[in-house]
Amino acid sequence: MKILLVEDDATLADGLSRTLGQSDLRVEHVTTGEAAEEAFLRERFDMVVLDIGLPGIDGFEVLRRLRKRPDYVPVLVLTARDAVEDRVHGLDLGADDYLAKPFALPEFEARVRALLRRGQANKNPQLRNGPLVLDTVARRATLNGQPVDLTSREWSVLENLMLRAGQVVSKENLMQALSNWDRELSMNAIEVYMSRLRAKVESGGVRIRTVRGFGYLLEEQNDAG
Ligand code: CA
Repeated sequence: MKILLVEDDATLADGLSRTLGQSDLRVEHVTTGEAAEEAFLRERFDMVVLDIGLPGIDGFEVLRRLRKRPDYVPVLVLTARDAVEDRVHGLDLGADDYLAKPFALPEFEARVRALLRRGQANKNPQLRNGPLVLDTVARRATLNGQPVDLTSREWSVLENLMLRAGQVVSKENLMQALSNWDRELSMNAIEVYMSRLRAKVESGGVRIRTVRGFGYLLEEQNDAG
């Protein structure tokens, strides 16, 4: 497993590299966004740890460009700025998780492991339910062959429902899937994401049922449906 660490603070980068190295992960460290881009052109990484405050092009821009590439790589964003807008901006650009500095190294390591596991679980790239297809590698959704624009959170909710199509998925389960991103997430927020998601997919014949007091169920369809 190889990780690209993009961080201009030498002391912090040293600590992070050592932590990952102790877990038998290989780390390539670069200090600028430009160097990160060169690294992406040169090789594939299993994960990227990306600082937002960088000299030259910042982490947001690196992330924006990275998400235009066809191959999906999990990204953990690091930032000194704990402003909600920054966090939302990073997530909207396609970050998978977020850590605000300062953070504890064990927490950092746990987040990295979780994202690496997610990346491995995504080895089967396509989830399919009737007219709806999620390409979990390219991170693209299509409905009847037409692209569907999903935010990171909507994607996560839909992916969870797709993985268990035809079964009821509890709200608690969905909250867990989202909690890496939004620690103060409320039950109401799930309902908001769900109604946005329905607006995007139900016109194409995909139905998400509410199982009152428990959760949600994506109606299973065969490939011809
Ligand atoms: Ca920095």
